[in-house]
Amino acid sequence: MATYHIETYGCSSNRGESREIERALRDGGHRPAAGPEDADVAILNTCTVVEKTERNMLRRAEELAEETADLVVTGCMALAQGEMFREAGIDAEILHWDEVPSYALNGECPTVTPDADPVLDGVVGILPIARGCMSNCSYCITKFATGRVDSPTVEENVEKARALVHAGAKEIRVTGQDTGVYGWDTGDRKLPELLDRICDIDGEFRVRLGMANPGGIHGIHEELVEVFAENEKLYDFIHAPVQSGSDDVLEDMRRQHRVDKFREVVETFDDRLDHWTLSTDFIVGFPTETEADHERSMDLLESVRPEKINVTRFSKRPGTDAADMKGLGGTVKKERSKAMSELKMTVVGDAYESMVGETFDVLVVEEGTGDSVKCRDSAYRQIIVQSATDRGVDVGDFLDVEVTGHNTVYAFGEPTDEGRASEGEDRAEPTPSSA
Ligand code: SF4
Repeated sequence: MATYHIETYGCSSNRGESREIERALRDGGHRPAAGPEDADVAILNTCTVVEKTERNMLRRAEELAEETADLVVTGCMALAQGEMFREAGIDAEILHWDEVPSYALNGECPTVTPDADPVLDGVVGILPIARGCMSNCSYCITKFATGRVDSPTVEENVEKARALVHAGAKEIRVTGQDTGVYGWDTGDRKLPELLDRICDIDGEFRVRLGMANPGGIHGIHEELVEVFAENEKLYDFIHAPVQSGSDDVLEDMRRQHRVDKFREVVETFDDRLDHWTLSTDFIVGFPTETEADHERSMDLLESVRPEKINVTRFSKRPGTDAADMKGLGGTVKKERSKAMSELKMTVVGDAYESMVGETFDVLVVEEGTGDSVKCRDSAYRQIIVQSATDRGVDVGDFLDVEVTGHNTVYAFGEPTDEGRASEGEDRAEPTPSSA
């Protein structure tokens, strides 16, 4: 568990983004700090309307960088003018709103709520399938709170998913600390069966598989990829955090995989699926990481070319074995993190560039900033559609979108068949609830 401090400037939409970040951080087991000086990570959610605001944002970022251990700058100014923070010499990670929670997790898995009840949020149904993991990572504090995996039956989880669909969920997010080890405690690896059964539920909806460590997923990857290939409802997306391209570092991290296992999983998915998304995470600056280890991580990133990448600068969590290791200097961690973040921008930018001019079947998952909506295609790539009201596009709609442009974390698109999903469809009114 880490503590965070978050400051938000600007419009109500920006405040909404901060609420989302806070919710994800709390779901990940983090807690608010009394102030920036007590926080493990401080988050500055910026606005950029007039020059005076920009000057204020830069000044505040400078102050926070002095006061706190780790600063993240996000929001409109960070995305549009991130170079101003770098040019001012401010030591901060510049991230899109969606990337902040993963960064703050510091390579640890997200915790799931102890009661493991599903929750409907807009048209998104959150389905925690199990709590706990089968690992003992040396840098992780989360495992102390959650313990070993404890898996309810497939039937129980399918019933919860069914209740979410009946309550209006259009996207079921299958979550867990490590979804790949679901069922391990009962002697039977049941994730492929569970996903198959959820996809069998009547209704038009999508299913997103949450974080699955490469060590756990490797044992079932051939069966799993068939479930992906055969079920259109399942987003072709996996989040498998590799954390390092060096086997020596993985050993010191006490991860349950080595680089070749991770590569095998990726190659199997590459062979079987045409358009899919690999999301992975790297921890940069682990205490025993040498320059050669860092280069191995850079090589892995460049060769595997994930479409979504979270880069986290290592920081110590109290009570963990990694906290007792002699750490690297801040400058080394900063330089490695900068190099990897730059490579990430190129690799992810290339993935979105390849989508320009193509048309994708998307689900409108949630409102974006202003009058935009956030959509997800079959590979869970994010596509933003502007002027949603004028186009009659609502959250929960399914429609075809042509990608017209992109930045490094999402694409922009134009609907080609506005309002298709609304025609004659009798949709349940989604209301926040517990199913
Ligand atoms: S898999 Fe590793 S990082 Fe994730 S919760 Fe378990 S011990 Fe922590």
